[in-house]
Amino acid sequence: MVEGNGSWLTDNNGKRYLDFLQGWAVNCLGHSNPGMIEALNVQAKKLINPSPAFYNEPMIGLSNLLTENSCFDKVFFANSGAEANEGAIKLARKWGQLNKSGAFEIITFDHSFHGRTLATMSASGKPNWDTMFAPQVAGFPKADLNDLDSVKKLVTDKTVAVMLEPVQGEGGVIPTTQEFMRELRKFTKENNILLIADEVQAGCGRTGALFAYQNYGIEPDIMTLGKGIGGGVPLAALLATDAVACFVPGDQGGTYNGNPLMTAVGISVIEQLLAPGFLDAVKAKGELLQSELLKLATEFNLEGERGAGLLRALMLGKDIGPKLVELARDRNPEGLLINSPRPNLLRFMPALNVSDDEIRQMCNMLRELLKEVA
Ligand SMILES: *Cc1c(COP(=O)(O)O)cnc(C)c1O
Repeated sequence: MVEGNGSWLTDNNGKRYLDFLQGWAVNCLGHSNPGMIEALNVQAKKLINPSPAFYNEPMIGLSNLLTENSCFDKVFFANSGAEANEGAIKLARKWGQLNKSGAFEIITFDHSFHGRTLATMSASGKPNWDTMFAPQVAGFPKADLNDLDSVKKLVTDKTVAVMLEPVQGEGGVIPTTQEFMRELRKFTKENNILLIADEVQAGCGRTGALFAYQNYGIEPDIMTLGKGIGGGVPLAALLATDAVACFVPGDQGGTYNGNPLMTAVGISVIEQLLAPGFLDAVKAKGELLQSELLKLATEFNLEGERGAGLLRALMLGKDIGPKLVELARDRNPEGLLINSPRPNLLRFMPALNVSDDEIRQMCNMLRELLKEVA
């Protein structure tokens, strides 16, 4: 790939691709967003790296934007979603040492995805990941999403937190239900257990709310952000309420954490997401994508569709996902970029400012391919 513009990528042969991957839900404002480019240029001329030993202006600006628009009070910046989740795990364990006699177990979920470090792989519920680089980091029992009894069964006096994605992304776009999220919050509160929302994929406007937990009328104790917060540059964040933010300087850190070049881009991204009408437009585009996908499901007798906002999946009912991904990429004159996290479904995570026409165009491309394959 050599160039990107909005929802389109161009390769070294000049072939164009309609991009409904966007770096795996990363480029929330599409390719070559003017606001991000401006922020990068201005900040590059001013200050790139004063070292993480000092606070810097964009870091404080972005922290304020995030805390003013969420239920959290403290922010720690990281470079990837996995690193932010590592921080969340450490924070919960430290809180357990201080407040719960060393409780350290964090209940996570089957089919969840939390990253590729050893601890976050251990927290993830991906098939085969328990043996891939064995032994795992201990302390991550797995429950079933949307089944509170399965959580209750795993709770012991060692349980310090429950960690979940409001919408399981890599697991196949499986939304946490309203009822489950509310009951889980009630149950964890009553039992002095922390709730950690991994919003690396579902956060930053992806579901039509700035943060996905806001769709549920609940407040987690800890949240992690990644992907969309940088709009394509490596930026992630760990957020916590004052009640659980027990890190002291030196507990967690890293060479590039909170560097002004990336956090300046983060400010541009969050400001654009908060611009009047932007998130409402994401909701409307999500509904358009949903209705277009449902038409395809009816036309080709597929299983259906699911998701939230602009994170959606088409359930194919048979294992033709990888084949469709390949045909879509290779189609001419224009390619289409989609993905198949499970062989029986396709996932769509376009730029949040994708146009209605591009959504229809994508579904028309898919319609041609389904005629060939389904
Ligand atoms: C992508 C993802 C991560 C890992 O983020 P990286 O930046 O790849 O380390 C963690 N959690 C969820 C829910 C993700 O989708």
